[in-house]
Amino acid sequence: MYDFIIRQVKILDGSKESAFVADLGVKGDEIAAIGDLKDEKAKQVFNGQGLALAPGFIDIHTHSDTALLADYRGQSHIQQGVTTEVLGQCGGSIVPRNEKMAEQAKAMQMRMAPHSEPFMGLTTEEYLAELDQRGVSLNAVFITGQGNARQMVMDYTDGPANPEQLEEMKAIIRRSMEEGSFGFSTGLIYTPSVYAEIDEIVELARVVAEYDGLYFTHIRGENDTVIQAVEEALEIGRRAKIAVQISHLKAMGRHMWGSSKEILKLIEQAREEGVDVTFDQYPYLAAACGLDAILPPWASVGGKAEMVKRLQDPELKAKMLENILAEEGTGEWISIYKGVGWDNIMITGFAPDHSLEGKMIAEIAEEKGQDPWDTCSELIIANQGNRVSIVYFAMGEEDLERIMVHPLQMVGSDTGAVSGLPAPGKPHPRAFGSFASILGKFVREKKLFSLEEAIYKMSTAAANRLGLKDRGMLKVGYKADLVLFNPDTVEGPADYIDPRQYAKGIEGVWVNGVLSVWRGEHTGAKAGRVLKPSR
Ligand SMILES: [Zn+2]
Repeated sequence: MYDFIIRQVKILDGSKESAFVADLGVKGDEIAAIGDLKDEKAKQVFNGQGLALAPGFIDIHTHSDTALLADYRGQSHIQQGVTTEVLGQCGGSIVPRNEKMAEQAKAMQMRMAPHSEPFMGLTTEEYLAELDQRGVSLNAVFITGQGNARQMVMDYTDGPANPEQLEEMKAIIRRSMEEGSFGFSTGLIYTPSVYAEIDEIVELARVVAEYDGLYFTHIRGENDTVIQAVEEALEIGRRAKIAVQISHLKAMGRHMWGSSKEILKLIEQAREEGVDVTFDQYPYLAAACGLDAILPPWASVGGKAEMVKRLQDPELKAKMLENILAEEGTGEWISIYKGVGWDNIMITGFAPDHSLEGKMIAEIAEEKGQDPWDTCSELIIANQGNRVSIVYFAMGEEDLERIMVHPLQMVGSDTGAVSGLPAPGKPHPRAFGSFASILGKFVREKKLFSLEEAIYKMSTAAANRLGLKDRGMLKVGYKADLVLFNPDTVEGPADYIDPRQYAKGIEGVWVNGVLSVWRGEHTGAKAGRVLKPSR
């Protein structure tokens, strides 16, 4: 007797082999049989005719650490068929941390979910135990932020760590690895992660490599310096003998379009030399951040209030624009504005006036009859230096697709899961559609690669990368993380103007054998587990 059987369904087992029609039976949390089960009984039967069944997707790059505490369901991700979240990316994980960092994170959690129970633990062990105890809908894989270790030891101090500080950071990373982390991450454009130079990162990477852990990196530049930044990541892999995952690989700014060719060649060469490198990507042409990220770093020294004051000073404001527009930036820094332009920067979250959300800066400027730079600075001032969320269209279609079809590519949404209920602000649609739009737009409509290959990228390759031995494929004895979908209708309709739309064409999602989403409705299941590295 099976707990359930999905009958006559097209099986995409994750192996890249051609799909085939069969029945799949589940007992407990495991796939118990795949084949002809027509004489077998089950407590529940699903008709899979016309539908496809795949191993649950693994979102290899998320920022759901706090989101899962605020809302255990992980809605925008699980509604696409994601069954495992990889947390702690871009150098910033929720733990390890000190009390001051815990207070700041508490404020963020309370903004996301005012009635949720604040989590005040400091260690990886405490966080993972908390997820276990509260219960979550998706499996969780934890990665340790290098920025956390840096902040705990040196706060926001620039410059290299001294030997004692380095030892302290290594001890923090080591402890997190001992407590269940799969690796560590850097975010080398964010403070304080960015203050670490290569030697410091290599030292930490050597600790992680002792545990066969991974190095995930948001590299030090994604526009003019992207080649050097990729080289740095590969160099860390070489020196520390650690597996490297380059996060959200891309080439930003029109002047950099086409450089994905050179980037991919570098990566392939490194692999030939023995560096174990792979990468992930979200399938969208726009990136997301705060509007102040276009300003030169000196503009925000001392915090928000100081930044606002400088923007109100005509001379300093003119100096900023000069830096932003200069071909070489300030010499050390180049604005993300370069190769983008005001007509490609869309406001997506502006608390003082939500009616501006969805409009380009150039468009708002024209309506107001003013210069776009004046509009830009006015918006930041009006919000008192608080985050004005933007998406900016910086990537080229050709690069996006060249990276996507590459055999080393995996899919990561680069978001924390959010709910689809109406709320102020417009999250990047990648939170709602990264996986579904691969299946709809890029497989069915554009025919860039086969459904079989897509499932391999979104499940199997990621499971292999993480060393998850019983997930990422449909195989007898594997955990029953399953997604049942209609290959003819699946799509990610979320867009920049109306992002809070769940994926379509996803019939059912099971996590560890438990039905968690059925036809767009979350069942309330908390069947996700904290996964531990197999060492
Ligand atoms: Zn990042």
